Amino acid sequence: MDFSSFSLDRRILANVRDCGYVSPTPIQVQAMPAALAGRDVLGLAQTGTGKTAAFALPLLQHLIAAEANDGHGAPRVLVLAPTRELALQIHESFITLGRQTGIRSAAVFGGVGESPQIRAARQASVLVACPGRLLDLVNRGHVDLSGIKALVLDEADHMFDMGFLPDVRRIMAELPHKRQNLLFSATMPPEIRKMADQILKDPVVVQVANTAPAETISHCVYPVPGGRKADLLEALLTKTPHDCVLVFTRTKHRAKSLARRLEGRGWLATSLQGNLSQNRRQEALDGFRTGKYRIMVATDIAARGIDCARITHVVNFDVPDTAECYTHRIGRTGRADKSGQAMTLVTPEDADQIRMIERILRTSLSRMIVEGFAYGDERSGNDTAFEEPRALRGPARSGAPARQGRPGNRGKQEPQGLPARSGPSRRTSSGGRSVFGMRPAAN
Ligand code: AMP
Repeated sequence: MDFSSFSLDRRILANVRDCGYVSPTPIQVQAMPAALAGRDVLGLAQTGTGKTAAFALPLLQHLIAAEANDGHGAPRVLVLAPTRELALQIHESFITLGRQTGIRSAAVFGGVGESPQIRAARQASVLVACPGRLLDLVNRGHVDLSGIKALVLDEADHMFDMGFLPDVRRIMAELPHKRQNLLFSATMPPEIRKMADQILKDPVVVQVANTAPAETISHCVYPVPGGRKADLLEALLTKTPHDCVLVFTRTKHRAKSLARRLEGRGWLATSLQGNLSQNRRQEALDGFRTGKYRIMVATDIAARGIDCARITHVVNFDVPDTAECYTHRIGRTGRADKSGQAMTLVTPEDADQIRMIERILRTSLSRMIVEGFAYGDERSGNDTAFEEPRALRGPARSGAPARQGRPGNRGKQEPQGLPARSGPSRRTSSGGRSVFGMRPAAN
C-alpha cells in the first residue's frame, strides 16, 4: 500500500514524499480512511507509530477541500497536546506536511510570551495547543474557538497524568458541538475511557500493538553514583566497539551540556533537543545518519525524528520514566534484525524505576560494572568494588545480558566495513578481561 491510495491532494502527497515516507504505517493504514471520511477515531497508539501524520494528513486534506467554500478566519482544527515539546512537534508536522498548501499552523503553550502566539493563532487554520495556556487565552477573549470543525486530543493519557483533563473539558465547552473528534492515547485508563465515551460519536477504533523490545536487543544496567555518570559513559564508549550511539537524557539542558562535554573531549558528538533551530536540528540528524557524528545525545521528544540504521547502542544516561519510554528508546537500535545493545546508567535513586521497567518488560536487566573504572568509592578497583544499591538486588543477577549473548560478542556483529568505534584515536579498546572490559556486577 502507498499513500496515493488515500486520494490526498497532490501537494500533500509531494510533502509526504519529501518526508521520505514510502508506505503508511499501520496506524495510518487504519486511521486515515476513517478520518478522511469524517468519522470520529479512537486511536490506541504510542508515540513513534506515525500517529501524528495519521491525523494531520486527513485534517489537512479536509482544510484544503473546505478552503474554496469557507472563508472563516479563525482556527478550524484544534490539536491539544500535553507538553510544549509535543505541541511543537505536531505543529512542525502540520507545517511540513502542509507545505505549499497555504494552510497555516500555530502553536500555543506556556512559558513564553503570549503576544506572538495570539497573533499566529488568529491567522492559523490549525491550532496546536497545551490546554493551560489555550484556556487562558480563550477566557481573555484572545482566541476564538467557534470555528473549530475538528478536535484532536493527543496523548490523552499523559494529559490525564498531568492533571489537564479539567482544562480540556473547559476548552471543549467552547467548541461547536458539530465537529469531528480524534482521540489518541497509548493506554486507556478509566478516566480516558469515560472521556472517549462522552465525546466520540460512533468512533472507529484503531489499535497498534505496543512494541515489545525487539528480540535482537540485549539489555544491561550499569549502576553508578550520580556524580560519575558522564565519566562512566565515556568509559563505556571507550571500551565498547560501536558504530552510532544514541544517548538519552531527561532534559534539554543535560543533552546539550553532555554533548558539549563529549565533543570537547574529542568524541564525534552532537545533541538533538527542542531548543535547536530547524536548520541545526536537520544538520545534527543528517550528520548522525552519515556518520559525521557517532554520538547523538537527545531528549525523548527530540529523538522522535531519528531513524538511523547504524545505531548499534542506545544509552539511557538518565533512566526513562516509564517502560513504554524504555521500549521506545531502545527500539532505535536492533532494527531490521541487526543486533543492538541497550545500556542504562542507574543511580541508587533510580531503583524503583528499574524495577518497574523489569516488571513490565518481564525481563531482568543484567547489572554490569566496568573494569578499571574508578567509581568514586574507596573500594573501587576491587572485584566487588561497586556496592550495588540494595533495591537493585533481585533476579537480574545471572551475569549474562538479559537476553542473548554476552556483550563481548558484539564486536563480531559490527556492520562490515564500518569503523568499530568512533572517538579519539588515542583511546584504546578493551584492556579488561572481555572485549568490553566489563563484567557482571558481583554479589
Ligand atoms: P509519531 O508517532 O507521529 O511521533 O511519528 C514517529 C516518526 O515516524 C516521526 O519521525 C515521523 O516523521 C515518522 N513517520 C510518520 N509516518 C511515517 C511513514 N509513513 N513512514 C516513515 N516514517 C514515518
